[in-house]
This record gives sequence, C-alpha cells and structure tokens, in this order.
Amino acid sequence: MTDHDLLARLLGPEGPEVSCDACFELLDQYVDLELAGDDPDARLPGMRAHLEGCPACREDHESLREIAAQG
Ligand SMILES: [Zn+2]
Repeated sequence: MTDHDLLARLLGPEGPEVSCDACFELLDQYVDLELAGDDPDARLPGMRAHLEGCPACREDHESLREIAAQG
C-alpha cells in the first residue's frame, strides 16, 4: 500500500458524514460519552470532524458540555 492509499483510507472518501441535524441529535450522547471518559469518536464517528468544521455546532457542543459539567 502506498502512502496515498493510506491517506485516502483515513480521509474517506466514503467516511461518515454528519449533517448539522444529525450532529444536533447526537450531541447529547457525544457529551455523555466524553464526560464518562469513553471514546465518543469511536462510538459516533464523524462527529469530531463535523464539530471542527462547523462553528455553530461547535458552539452548541461547548455550551452543552459546560451545562453537563455543572450538573
Ligand atoms: Zn453543524
């Protein structure tokens, strides 16, 4: 396998794509897993990539995490 093949496998092109709607639906779960010390990226693939690329969802994620951490 060449480096290019490896990179293509890591990046997709058929990687899981999470829409804002799906991201919003899964955000509770994602934060729960995070706070539980679990591996949310393994359970909910695509979420991290979406959060990194989507400022709106990233903001939601941060406020949800703050709320969850306080409660
Ligand atoms: Zn989004």
